[in-house]
Amino acid sequence: MNDGANIDYRNFKINGIYQYNDAADLMVRAKLPAGVLSVVQAEAICDVSEKYSNGILHLTCRGNVEIHGLRGDTLPQVFRRYNAVGLTTRGACGGAVRSVICATAEGDGFSRIQLLARCLHDHFTGNPHFEGLPKKFKLGIENGYLGARHLCQDLVMVYLGQEDGRDLCDVWVAGGLGRQPQEGFLLAGRVSFERLIPLIEGVVKVYKKNTPAGKRLKYLLADIGEAEFRALLSKETSGAQVCPVSTPLEDALDGASAAGACGWIELAVFAGQLPAAELRRIAGVVQDLGDGFLAISRDQNVLVSLGVGINPEPLKEALRVAGLLKQEETLQCRVCPGSHLCTKGLVPTRDVARQLDAILGDSSRALSWAISGCPNSCSQPQLADFGIIGVRKGSDKKEALYDLYKRSGKGFGKPLREKLNLDELLKTVAEFG
Ligand code: SF4
Repeated sequence: MNDGANIDYRNFKINGIYQYNDAADLMVRAKLPAGVLSVVQAEAICDVSEKYSNGILHLTCRGNVEIHGLRGDTLPQVFRRYNAVGLTTRGACGGAVRSVICATAEGDGFSRIQLLARCLHDHFTGNPHFEGLPKKFKLGIENGYLGARHLCQDLVMVYLGQEDGRDLCDVWVAGGLGRQPQEGFLLAGRVSFERLIPLIEGVVKVYKKNTPAGKRLKYLLADIGEAEFRALLSKETSGAQVCPVSTPLEDALDGASAAGACGWIELAVFAGQLPAAELRRIAGVVQDLGDGFLAISRDQNVLVSLGVGINPEPLKEALRVAGLLKQEETLQCRVCPGSHLCTKGLVPTRDVARQLDAILGDSSRALSWAISGCPNSCSQPQLADFGIIGVRKGSDKKEALYDLYKRSGKGFGKPLREKLNLDELLKTVAEFG
């Protein structure tokens, strides 16, 4: 394999490889089920980042880990290293069922959610029936209703808990953010786990067969309406067999072998940017005193698993002594790579996050924030208390412009101020935030 002109890296999206500039620099995204990874996997990611890139990781709002700045001639080594530890990138980009985003740190029931996330990850990843989709298809699992998160994915399962030994979910579909935000609708209530896979398969098949290339499921719904969508879905799911999510062993263990079974220790990561050396140090502590598992939260932080039998106090103390569990409050701000790394990025998201960090007072810092480099809204600004979206790129003659969103009520955040320059944005944020 070479780094020459005869390879078109844009054909490799389905393998989680994304060419993000004309110089053929590549981003490789590891697809983690429920954001969970083992210490061994974390070390492999650190090795790749330090050896073949700049040693900086980007943690995504879907609980994935991206390495930017890789060159094509290193892909054999990168994938050999990932394969050796069971890390996959398949379907992390392109027209595929993407990683299952999960309510990792919130409430009880995560072990059942994690089981479901892993089962869906295994079922849809690399499954040719569910690849070659018109565009990405995003799955999410929520642990009960919290904010507007159930409204913004192609398909979201809201876990309701167990009843008579059966795990139940509400299923919402056709939501999405981006340039034309659309809140999803309730497709089916109180669906048992074993009916989920046939139902999701049906939705993905309807999407694949009926949607033009480049469009999301929300486009199809806007085009044909809910009644027609339900009719098509009913045809696809007619006669479908139930499909168990867990095995008898997993049911008997009742989550005792799951990462995070007794909770997590959250380590704040500013703007989702984490030096590989720091992840390596975290992994070292977890190897010695933890249960061998970590997770990436959808707020782009690192979570240290408290598995069954793990004593949290020595673990916390070791993380504190190593300077990894910080005392001071870190600004909670989801950030996409923006113009720092993304060709679509209009504004330098991490720089803006730093400026926000410098001006916000204590009460504003307690709120949730998100900054997206363009209207594609990858950091989900409409779900934060305050969201910022870059809407015009700065140049010699023009200033970069931003829209400011505020969320109140049940749905997505709405624009509060539009087309602000950076000074106006910071002034407005200081006033409202
Ligand atoms: S929101 Fe825009 S700039 Fe940010 S990662 Fe997505 S496409 Fe790139």
